[in-house]
Amino acid sequence: MIASTHLAVGAASALLIQEYIPVKWDIKTRYILGLGAGILSHIAFDSLGHAEYSVQGIALFSLLWVEVGVTLLAVLGFSNRVMMPLLMWGMFWGAVPDLLYFAHEFTGIKVFELGHAILHLTHGWLITLYVNHATQIGITVCAIVYIRIRASTTAF
Ligand SMILES: [Zn+2]
Ligand SMILES: [Zn+2]
Repeated sequence: MIASTHLAVGAASALLIQEYIPVKWDIKTRYILGLGAGILSHIAFDSLGHAEYSVQGIALFSLLWVEVGVTLLAVLGFSNRVMMPLLMWGMFWGAVPDLLYFAHEFTGIKVFELGHAILHLTHGWLITLYVNHATQIGITVCAIVYIRIRASTTAF
């Protein structure tokens, strides 16, 4: 699935889980649950049948930079400053399962490859539910709208 979907959905999941955490729970627990929500959202969305990038190499790399830049701006721009660290945290962990692939490519460290493989065991499993590029962008927009509404009214 495209990077912006994982980033936006990761941030939205880290934010969404906060709504179910008792008010008195401390910030560390909130971030740990946000981490879990970010990774789980990646696994869940990658489990759907989905269109992959149709470009490779330098074209893919350039596209990723633009996509990540636009998504960062959309998620963080104008957000309540108090919520920014949590949103960045959610985006990061929502991207980690795929970042492990690049971490292995660049460092050659096997454990990154293993982590990537484990987190993608259910990749593309639900083939009956196929998510094309347009729908992936739609999901991204919905996640950003949710973040923009909730991150401006929530603070902890
Ligand atoms: Zn995929
Ligand atoms: Zn993935």
